[in-house]
Amino acid sequence: MIGLDTETRDMVISTLQEYAERKLKPEFLRELDEKDEFPTQVLRDLYDPNQFGLHLMFIPEEYGGLGGGAYDIYRVSETMARIDLGIATGVLATFLGTDPITVGGTEEQKKLWMGKIADEGLLVAYGATEPQAGSDLGSLTTKAEPVLEAGVVVGYKINGRKQWISNGGVARLYTVLANAPGGPSWFVVEHDASGFTKGKPEDKHGIRASNTAALFLDDVYVTADRLVGGVEGKGLAQAQAVFGYTRLMVGSFGLGGGWAALERAIRYGQTRVQGGALLSTKQAYTHKLLVPNAVRLEASRAYIEWVAERIDGGDPEQQTEGAVAKYMATEAGNKAAEDAIQAHGGYGYTKEYMVEKIKRDVRITCIYEGTSEIMEWTIARDRWQMHLKSQGAYYRDWATQLDAIAAQTPESGAATAALALRALTVLLERCRLDRLTRNQHILFRLGELIAYAETAAIFSERAASKPTEAIALSPATLCVMARVHAREAALKIANDGLRWAIGAGQTDPNLANSLNLPAIFAAQAGLVDDMNTVAAALIAAFPAE
Ligand SMILES: Cc1cc2nc3c(=O)[nH]c(=O)nc-3n(C[C@H](O)[C@H](O)[C@H](O)COP(=O)(O)OP(=O)(O)OC[C@H]3O[C@@H](n4cnc5c(N)ncnc54)[C@H](O)[C@@H]3O)c2cc1C
Repeated sequence: MIGLDTETRDMVISTLQEYAERKLKPEFLRELDEKDEFPTQVLRDLYDPNQFGLHLMFIPEEYGGLGGGAYDIYRVSETMARIDLGIATGVLATFLGTDPITVGGTEEQKKLWMGKIADEGLLVAYGATEPQAGSDLGSLTTKAEPVLEAGVVVGYKINGRKQWISNGGVARLYTVLANAPGGPSWFVVEHDASGFTKGKPEDKHGIRASNTAALFLDDVYVTADRLVGGVEGKGLAQAQAVFGYTRLMVGSFGLGGGWAALERAIRYGQTRVQGGALLSTKQAYTHKLLVPNAVRLEASRAYIEWVAERIDGGDPEQQTEGAVAKYMATEAGNKAAEDAIQAHGGYGYTKEYMVEKIKRDVRITCIYEGTSEIMEWTIARDRWQMHLKSQGAYYRDWATQLDAIAAQTPESGAATAALALRALTVLLERCRLDRLTRNQHILFRLGELIAYAETAAIFSERAASKPTEAIALSPATLCVMARVHAREAALKIANDGLRWAIGAGQTDPNLANSLNLPAIFAAQAGLVDDMNTVAAALIAAFPAE
């Protein structure tokens, strides 16, 4: 397993939390938000090796870093996002910026640039997006033209424009994606290169403490050794290769932002009396605004931890899993923050209670590093192939494994998760037979349903065998939450699946039964009791301050 030992990781996290308590108080964070200000000193502190050296986390030991793994990145990203998502973006954009070098750089490039970033605590920016090339990076127009001397390429002249670049106006080092004759390629560009200018900071909806700017490259000359990997045309593959990692990071941002808001709502409900009693005693309050969000966030956490362990265990190709993690965690974080405003009533709509800022901040996680829709597409496209290749065995076999877990640990909800996976198999097969995915909407909806099914399966599996240590909820509570999530997933697959399949013209008159709708409805028994248990556990874990 790659990564830090538990003691070192816990120390980094608690040091960060103590720093935040001392220096990043709500008034200060609100002021940064109000003034749209990048907190230079905070970033200096966080990158200072004598204080935190947070950037060292993601630099391998051989280049002077600490060699943190995916699990460490998840824990630090969640912690940072719980504090402030704007600052988290500023800190972790460096990680994103170094990725092309980490996955694609030559040994000399890694030694040089990673060593420099480690020693000097350089802020890095990742320049992929362009005004006309967002989700579709393949349509980028920034050009890298080879400069020849005696028939040998000695450098490149880069021309073009990048859009929405985090740390764009403040970084010292940039990785920039440009079209070379051999295809899209990454180049390392220093901040003071001639012809390289940056736009003014964007006036954003949220994460206003992070700097986002356009980049303008006007005949920017770089020597040939700045071509990442030394071979043209590898840029898109290199960007793809790190998605497992980077989407896990943004998923962890969703988790942290969502919990930051939800925790406030749980505590608030224990101080606010309406209708003669505390809101935390009102089921319609807890079961609508608190419990479902805690459940979805913890389902996402279980999945994030599972993906992180796979990456750290030596299987970095987790692009689809990274997409599921990002999609579920960021959508869950966004909804949790939205509901936290509602849970605070009119107070939630003001600046003082922080939830409206958190809501604005966490919104970005559904957009950057691939939008939620692009995640749906990625998930559906990849798992569709799995379904076809395995002739339906992919989820059927997984359901059989869940049956075995259900026999051992029935309280984990694994039997209901198995129902969800079996219904999904039936639905995918129906879509194949009736060629329903020729409708783009159907394919994307399948992406959503697959994400629900997989998180239900993983949440049940881990609740039964490996509950998280990252949150103060007992293994028994996590099992109850896994049951609630499995019920939601199964019902969603059956209901939405039926709706979209019928809506797109499916031909099986017996589809509701094939999806096992009666069993899925029957599995809802006990739901309200389980939600009562989760509500009580949340209130115990996050008492009024
Ligand atoms: C604050 C902020 C920070 C950012 N930081 C960085 C950074 O550091 N580096 C970097 O390179 N980029 C960065 N980005 C860019 C970000 O990754 C893109 O904004 C994002 O990928 C979406 O691209 P777009 O904005 O061009 O939207 P578009 O791609 O135009 O998408 C618009 C809408 O259409 C949908 N859509 C797109 N394609 C399809 C399709 N084929 N089918 C159906 N629907 C589709 C999308 O889901 C979305 O809802 C940042 C953006 C923001 C706002």
